Amino acid sequence: MNSKLQIVNSLSRKKEIFEPSVPGHVGMYVCGPTVYSDVHLGNVRTFISFDVVYRYLVHLGFKVRYVRNITDVGHLVGDIDEGEDKIAKKARLENLEPMEIVQKYANGFHDVMNIFNAIPPSIEPTATGHLIEQIEMVQRIIDNGYGYEVGGNVYFDVLKFDKDHPYGKLSGRILEDLQSGSRDLDGQSDKRNSLDFALWKKAEKGHLMRWNSPWGLGFPGWHLECSVMSTKYLGTSFDIHGGGMDLKFPHHDCEIAQSVAADGADPVRYWMHTNMLTVNGQKMSKSANNSFLPHELISGDHPLLTQGYSPMTIRFFMLQSHYASELDFSNEALQASEKGFQRLMNALEAVESLDVSKAKGTDAEENKQLNDLIDAVYDELNDDFNTAKAIARLFDLSKKINSYKEGVIDIAGVSAESLERLQKEFHAVIVHVLGLKKESGGDTKVAAGLMELILEMRKDARGRKDYDTSDKIRDVLQELNIVIKDGKEGTSWSMN
Ligand code: AMP
Ligand code: ZN
Repeated sequence: MNSKLQIVNSLSRKKEIFEPSVPGHVGMYVCGPTVYSDVHLGNVRTFISFDVVYRYLVHLGFKVRYVRNITDVGHLVGDIDEGEDKIAKKARLENLEPMEIVQKYANGFHDVMNIFNAIPPSIEPTATGHLIEQIEMVQRIIDNGYGYEVGGNVYFDVLKFDKDHPYGKLSGRILEDLQSGSRDLDGQSDKRNSLDFALWKKAEKGHLMRWNSPWGLGFPGWHLECSVMSTKYLGTSFDIHGGGMDLKFPHHDCEIAQSVAADGADPVRYWMHTNMLTVNGQKMSKSANNSFLPHELISGDHPLLTQGYSPMTIRFFMLQSHYASELDFSNEALQASEKGFQRLMNALEAVESLDVSKAKGTDAEENKQLNDLIDAVYDELNDDFNTAKAIARLFDLSKKINSYKEGVIDIAGVSAESLERLQKEFHAVIVHVLGLKKESGGDTKVAAGLMELILEMRKDARGRKDYDTSDKIRDVLQELNIVIKDGKEGTSWSMN
């Protein structure tokens, strides 16, 4: 393979050869979930996309420090500066401590990532664990003249910043356009300009999540945590920053502004943005009421689903599109993915059964063809992590594998070295880079490994006295005619 890894940088809007600032090492930050409710499959798509980015970088031999945060304070309803904190609101509705909400949904998020075979990040920092650093960053921004305090709130002065540095360059927003599109301050806000965003918010009476600061009791603005935690663990200028494209503006443009204002450094060398998972063309989101939860997908218990699908089918379905393309959720596409995934797994079994002692290297042309096909898989992955095209190349290889297996092409033609390369790389790309694994299951519909995970999730739920979830799991399983029994030795299951 001759190609080098190239990444479409959302900042330059160009495909660039990837060269980390420290050779051999990569620093990567991905915006994690706000843990106030169950993650839906749209969130899962974004996290699976970056799981593959991480896996591929590791596969190429880079030492990767992968940081993905947990947002547990400061993200307000409507993603704006006014309104209730999403987590505090949920805590109020469920009559729980905000930290109980955070724990419950962070656990749920980890369970889901586990089900979809995503590797945990190297560091998973939380916003509430970095209050001191956030306060310090706000102070640096004020000291450098880009932030101002009014009555316990601290705002970022966008107009002042834009005079020295372009604001909105990631999303391509121009300040004049933003200004004409923004509403006038109606006397409700103490901002100098409606474009200014909150760095620190004063806690109103009764606000549950609040900390002491030089500006009084309050809590940090949403954009601040990512600037603080990315640069704390990866340095003031680091290699890759990822997130869904809905975060480009304002979240990521504000991150750039904050870092430049506080530390004088453009924080990110390669920005990467995933496209949205849609349902009938509309972005999947909690607020649009069109989101699927993982357990609904597994059981098929959702008005938009005609059957259940296994986690690896879903993962495969997601990787069959490039991360930067929109992906629409449909039963037909999933059914096709179910078959495709099975074909690929069959080829993986077949390749492992090929007999290397029969490979003699008698046909130079056949030998070259095979090696070219293997190279092609890597060329696609090097082309901005194009998993869609890489999977197409894996299917080309699957055809070859089946021809060798069935004797349609004489395996003696290829050299032992090439055949071993095929076995090694075919396995590595499918299992280590794409993160796909075999699922048992057959006619029971539910894979044995999956059952183990579901029972683990139920145990976790019961452990934290979340009986709603544990009962739901039992009920859904019952609908699938799966009976679970709690005994001294743990929980067992059987088909009715
Ligand atoms: P949130 O918890 O809302 O901050 O979202 C966590 C991550 O999921 C962010 O990177 C979002 O951009 C991403 N995300 C949210 N909805 C979707 C969707 N429908 N498709 C793909 N990614 C999404
Ligand atoms: Zn973020």
